[in-house]
Amino acid sequence: MRRGACGQTDVVRVAWSGLHKGEEPPVSGEHGSGMIFFTGCPLGCRYCQNYQISSSDENAYGIDVSVDELAMLMLALQEDKATTLNLVTGTHFIPSIVSALEIARKKGFSLPVVWNSSGYESIEGLTLIDPYIDLWLVDIKTYDRAVARTFCGKERYVDCIDSVMDFITSRHPVSDIEHLKGTLVRHLVFPGALNATRSFIRKFARNYKDSCYLSLMVQFIPPKGDLDCQSLSEDEYDSLVDLIDECSIENGFIQEQGDDDILWIPDFTKDVPFPSSFAKPLEYFLSLKRKALSR
Ligand code: SF4
Repeated sequence: MRRGACGQTDVVRVAWSGLHKGEEPPVSGEHGSGMIFFTGCPLGCRYCQNYQISSSDENAYGIDVSVDELAMLMLALQEDKATTLNLVTGTHFIPSIVSALEIARKKGFSLPVVWNSSGYESIEGLTLIDPYIDLWLVDIKTYDRAVARTFCGKERYVDCIDSVMDFITSRHPVSDIEHLKGTLVRHLVFPGALNATRSFIRKFARNYKDSCYLSLMVQFIPPKGDLDCQSLSEDEYDSLVDLIDECSIENGFIQEQGDDDILWIPDFTKDVPFPSSFAKPLEYFLSLKRKALSR
């Protein structure tokens, strides 16, 4: 069967599902966001914390699930009191996800749905999934070609992200994060590329500050150890916070610096890939995993 740039075929693969409290507060809510991490990714970020599952290698970690099982996962997350359904890097499985959402809705699924992606996506795919999405959680990597080449492995990311943001903001011109509507733009500061982050912040302020929320993340973790990754100094951090103020960006979140407790890389081969204080696996997912491993 033919594999795409994401490393996957048209068979949906899921790497983990369960409740997770590490998302932005409205997304996690009281009990946690109901995560479904899909296997494979069309980008190849050298710093990817989820490299066990995102690699375009056919051995990327995950189990095959049918569309009916995917719908059951959604319903089981709702049953487990998830605040939101959080679809992580589902870009390459959009048609199957749409079918699963249709099945789940017919069976009473009603959680707000979060589309959690890199923004390296086609308008055709986004048009299909848009009617099902409440909150767009777009991780804008950079607008800088050299930075995109170095960190994300694809210079053309910068050509894609503008049209993706135009599409989303034209359809959802107003955001209300407390009610899980609209768009939350995440941006991770890359080490040694502070100017690219400054350009991103200025462009966000010009184009999106009235229609989207911003979530600035500063804790870069280089799991593959092959990047020069000096951490952000306190002065650099403060200068970014000042720039956000100068640009009058009022809606959003800024990650605190230096909280070592949350410097971890998930291990998706475990039933709980994240610290257990953050995450609880879905029993139904574990049963699918046991079944898949026993085959
Ligand atoms: S887009 Fe996200 S999941 Fe994909 S390789 Fe980059 S960091 Fe990993």
